[in-house]
Amino acid sequence: MTRFLPDPDLLDSPRHRAWPRHPERPLPDRAGVPPEAADVVIVGAGPAGLAVAAALWHLGVHDVVVVDRDGRPAGRFLDRVDRLDQRVLRSPYEHHPGVEGYRDCELRDFARVHWARLTPVERREIRMSQAGHRSVVPVDVFEAYCRHTADLHRVPERLWRGEVRSLAVGEERVSVRGSAFQTTFETAARFVVLCPGEERRATPASWWDGDRPARVSYWDEPGPGAVAREVVVGAGLTGAHLVRNALARGSRVDWVLREESERYQCSDVNASFFRAEGRARFDSRRGQVPWARRLALMGRERRASVMFEFRPLLTEAEADGRLTVHRGVPVSAVHGATVVLAGGRRVGGDQVRLALGTVPSIGTGLLPDSVVGARDGWPDLDERTLAYRHAPRVFAAGAATCMVLGPAGRNIDGHRVATARIAASVAAGLRDRAVVHV
Ligand SMILES: Cc1cc2nc3c(=O)[nH]c(=O)nc-3n(C[C@H](O)[C@H](O)[C@H](O)COP(=O)(O)OP(=O)(O)OC[C@H]3O[C@@H](n4cnc5c(N)ncnc54)[C@H](O)[C@@H]3O)c2cc1C
Repeated sequence: MTRFLPDPDLLDSPRHRAWPRHPERPLPDRAGVPPEAADVVIVGAGPAGLAVAAALWHLGVHDVVVVDRDGRPAGRFLDRVDRLDQRVLRSPYEHHPGVEGYRDCELRDFARVHWARLTPVERREIRMSQAGHRSVVPVDVFEAYCRHTADLHRVPERLWRGEVRSLAVGEERVSVRGSAFQTTFETAARFVVLCPGEERRATPASWWDGDRPARVSYWDEPGPGAVAREVVVGAGLTGAHLVRNALARGSRVDWVLREESERYQCSDVNASFFRAEGRARFDSRRGQVPWARRLALMGRERRASVMFEFRPLLTEAEADGRLTVHRGVPVSAVHGATVVLAGGRRVGGDQVRLALGTVPSIGTGLLPDSVVGARDGWPDLDERTLAYRHAPRVFAAGAATCMVLGPAGRNIDGHRVATARIAASVAAGLRDRAVVHV
């Protein structure tokens, strides 16, 4: 059997190239607080919130307020990938973060328009995508496209930096309460779309007593700089980036995996879940997919995996002794910068880096628990509209939708599917006042 190993040069796209803006206009500085009323409030301006805002714009819904902690479209996502020095997305060009069904310039069209800015490797990827093969998208292209999508659909004018702290759900309105610019605000919205993404997964409480040891840090925190020996915990792409970065700094690395072995695959879930037949395995609109079966599928499909491109690099480092991989050994405790493995073996370093994955934000803390209706960590959503069953004016997009849309619900492609359902429902709810732009 021939085993194809993609070249690691794919991972090295340049970052922070100057990219022109069309139209050339600066982001308005949204000092102050959001207005007292709006048709729709979107919580979170990540790829999901951006997709929802853009789709609503096409449907003539323009009285929209977007509130985001960062105040930048896709800001947290870009900060996270930059923290890892991740230069390419894992998802291909087809998973574009724009709107389904409208002739906007899509992610691949956008990259082609900027052909002259791209490296030969990046151009080859576009050709691969055009030929229907797997392709890899540079973070630079993705960032510029998100900005383009935001500008095109006037998102910056509707975006406030702030934090939503609670939602009070009424018959006709939802009161969105939060803080911005060191003061509080309250916006009465006819509909709310929650797009808060995912938070990093914390360690089990049993790993250490009291405060986190000083030489232990999470993947989304500043790294240690060059140290002689680093211990990385976590088998996913984030862990693999930490390993790669430490090796590049000249550190020796111990990589601790709970799993029996690393898993290399293109996307983080089986590609069928990006297509209708995969989503059908979760589609319970006619009540035919039991919860237990969906839960089992989620458990199976959301396993940590690493892009193929890392394989040559990590295999070579392991062979020449710069990398030691501890497979099939869960961590039981962390003392200082020493990781204690199940069975008592200890792996010591100068710094421990944790990459234990993420946990979907499902509305807990913003909505009353009775409204979230959490079951096994997932919210109780109407399968057709993605509204909370106990608060039909509040919708969820992003990772919270996985038990309805399948494991791809947390990916850019899943946001596209969620957005189509949510935007149509919101526009229908506002129909009297909507003017449709196509
Ligand atoms: C390192 C990394 C790489 C990834 N690579 C890919 C990839 O290549 N392809 C892919 O499809 N997916 C990828 N993912 C998954 C990825 O997170 C999602 O596709 C995407 O970021 C999710 O978008 P989102 O809008 O749901 O969440 P986010 O991008 O996290 O955006 C949510 C926003 O909401 C804000 N927010 C949350 N709560 C509040 C609140 N109460 N008030 C105000 N603002 C709030 C957050 O601060 C954040 O800005 C990756 C994830 C990580 C961590």
